[in-house]
Amino acid sequence: NVKGNGKNNYAYYSQDLTAQLTKRVSIERALHAALKEGRLQVYFQPQINMVTGKLTGAEALARLTGEDGRFIPPDEFIPIAEEIGLISSLGKLVLEKSCAQARQWLDQGTACKVAVNVAAQQFNDHRFSETVVATMKKYNLPSQYLELEITESALVEDFNSANLTLEALKRSGISVALDDFGTGYSSLSYLRSFKLDVIKIDKSFVKDVTCDPQAACIVKAIIGLAKSLNLHLVCEGVESCEHEALLIKLGCADAQGYLYSKPLPVDDFNDYLVRNSLNASDTVCSMTG
Ligand code: C2E
Ligand code: MG
Ligand code: MG
Ligand code: MG
Repeated sequence: NVKGNGKNNYAYYSQDLTAQLTKRVSIERALHAALKEGRLQVYFQPQINMVTGKLTGAEALARLTGEDGRFIPPDEFIPIAEEIGLISSLGKLVLEKSCAQARQWLDQGTACKVAVNVAAQQFNDHRFSETVVATMKKYNLPSQYLELEITESALVEDFNSANLTLEALKRSGISVALDDFGTGYSSLSYLRSFKLDVIKIDKSFVKDVTCDPQAACIVKAIIGLAKSLNLHLVCEGVESCEHEALLIKLGCADAQGYLYSKPLPVDDFNDYLVRNSLNASDTVCSMTG
């Protein structure tokens, strides 16, 4: 209570803080509106095999438009959605749109697996795996076309229930990727304790792989780990031909990154799909160049 305090607490409200609060309120409002009016968009970023240049899947990434018509970055709205309890509804909507899209790709003859991000709170809902399976059924989507991406934070809350959820997903044939690998609680025990299928090396390691020997060592170790544990591996944040060449040399084939494409609105992704199916052997980086 500002009045009863005797001191002028307004002094603590710097203009900066006011601006932050205003922004926060507008993000909350955009989230509520998006969920009510379906104003949430989903972009898709190609995942490719660096060696063959072939498309292996697409990551679905939520896009929220603010009242000014501009995009609010996920790194800003996702944490707020988590805080105000909207992340599960948001996640459900992204899952729904992603399954519908994967179904459409199948129907138009350009089948493409879709990888959907799942927040910790959403993953830990005891009905999560049921919801996923029901959504797949609704769109008659075969399970090989859906992958879920979780972070380690989804696994720390309740070991047993996380394991049950992963087992249920596995029984339904849905693969699960551990996202942002290397940045979290790290992590080796998770790889052993949980039924995971894919690890995604965080882009912070990939970014430095060509200039920092320590980052290269970490990437190399993670690749070795994945191989010996029989986990599939994806590198995120591949931005240059130098990144690509080194990652291939270190033994990683699958990647995602601006070198191939930014996340695309669905129409642009469709163009990409058609182009890719025509010229699957065209790679971005020339071997001689
Ligand atoms: P993420 O799941 O690790 O997704 C990869 C992020 O890296 C995306 O950022 C993507 O645009 C970006 N990226 C891809 N290639 C490159 C590259 O070559 N260089 C750089 N610098 N960045 C690259 P985005 O779309 O801003 O999403 C950020 C994060 O927000 C995601 O990280 C994910 O954690 C979260 N997010 C996005 N959509 C959803 C969603 O539907 N549900 C949940 N729970 N989280 C989401
Ligand atoms: Mg992800
Ligand atoms: Mg990631
Ligand atoms: Mg992330």
